[in-house]
Amino acid sequence: MTLYLYDTYARQLREFIPLSASEVGVYTCGPTVYDYAHIGNLRTYVFEDVLRRTLEFNNFSVKHVMNITDVGHLVSDADEGEDKMEKGSRRTGKTAWEIAEFFTHAFQADLKHLNILEPHIWCRATDHMNEQIEFIRCIEAKGYTYQTSDGLYFDTTKLGDYGYLGRLDIEGLQAGARIDLGEKRSLTDFALWKFSPSNQKRQMEWKSPWGVGFPGWHIECSAMSAKYLGNYFDIHCGGEDHITVHHTNEIAQTEACFGTRLANFWMHGYFLQFDDERMSKSSGEFLRLQVLIDRGYDPLAYRFFNMSAHYRTKLNYSWDGLDSAAKSLDRLRNLVFEWGVPGIVDEEYTAQFTAQINDDLNMPRALAVTWDLARSSLPNATKKATILIFDRVLGLGLGEWQPKTEIIPEDIISLASERQTARSEKRWSDADALRDRIAEAGFEIEDTPKGPRIKSRK
Ligand code: AMP
Ligand code: ZN
Repeated sequence: MTLYLYDTYARQLREFIPLSASEVGVYTCGPTVYDYAHIGNLRTYVFEDVLRRTLEFNNFSVKHVMNITDVGHLVSDADEGEDKMEKGSRRTGKTAWEIAEFFTHAFQADLKHLNILEPHIWCRATDHMNEQIEFIRCIEAKGYTYQTSDGLYFDTTKLGDYGYLGRLDIEGLQAGARIDLGEKRSLTDFALWKFSPSNQKRQMEWKSPWGVGFPGWHIECSAMSAKYLGNYFDIHCGGEDHITVHHTNEIAQTEACFGTRLANFWMHGYFLQFDDERMSKSSGEFLRLQVLIDRGYDPLAYRFFNMSAHYRTKLNYSWDGLDSAAKSLDRLRNLVFEWGVPGIVDEEYTAQFTAQINDDLNMPRALAVTWDLARSSLPNATKKATILIFDRVLGLGLGEWQPKTEIIPEDIISLASERQTARSEKRWSDADALRDRIAEAGFEIEDTPKGPRIKSRK
């Protein structure tokens, strides 16, 4: 079945045809590891995971690369202000290197919680300094750079179609700009290499042909994607905020050096919004996955919540929304468990499911097909086999899930039985006292029509 994906570059759905028969190259911009990821960031990684799983569902062999930005991402996207890592270091009293290590692990743990497949290659910006310097030399040799007192810049006026990805109105931007450009020649020019300030020793700095300093944020992705996937590969993704600056500049760098536009498809996940405000790490307050877990949610309920909206629509976060996702997931898991042993896969439902995921990853519709299957009159074994196929894309771990069976200690069982006796003999105060003792031990008794049920107190 044909796979259609929305390409931001072309602003339309395009049939996905891999550049090479053997492997599909996918590069996803990774986190800036100066803090935890918030659940907005994680929405983008869930979308990218669904993309990868859909490609694999279509029998493509995927090579997935994700970078870790551990240097060079400045507080402002306009190449100004402090490096986010150095700022994080001041905030926490740890070194920039320690922070990077700590938050990289925290991020990888989040991905695991969300059942997001690990990229085949992780690459850190700080481990690829030579590649970045070589890339900048290439851009310089082709005549696209100029130097100022604080760094080496990319001259965006030299590239005819600069800003095409974001459909940037360069003249309009220049005219409306009120900010001081400093030594930058045009508003859209960006740093390839920044010099360490002369009055300050940076924790992260390297020697280069232009002086001691550190790379600009965008160069790492051009350099590392070229190293691992070649200078023109299949799909490049990130959040929608990357369209106008980061990805635009990645394309400029790669076009300047190799003359290719880096990737065949450009895909972007829309933002998760919180009370209709954009959630951002730098705004200080944000929800991270651990907060959801601490409130008793299964992280996969958050994955499910994300799949209830198309990746190209904004999604408003609400606790009610998460609650209903958690309930739906719970219902689905229990059903799948009760269906028992898998039998033969149903082709008809599988075709319907495939049609939806292949229509630009339409997960809300794919979930609707999943519920149709669940409610259908097919034999349980068929439903089970079919849903396990769907789960390769859904990634909800439906095959492994089991209802929790609680182990109730013997002494609690005997207290409960004493209480039953007291109740049947109408010794109410004894019964109440026994109930209190059971509660003190961390359990409670629920009197159901089928008799009392013991469970642990939450
Ligand atoms: P960062 O760690 O800030 O570089 O961002 C990591 C990824 O999360 C990037 O792909 C961003 O585009 C994406 N992102 C940032 N904020 C949000 C949000 N509120 N919703 C969805 N994705 C986001
Ligand atoms: Zn990137």
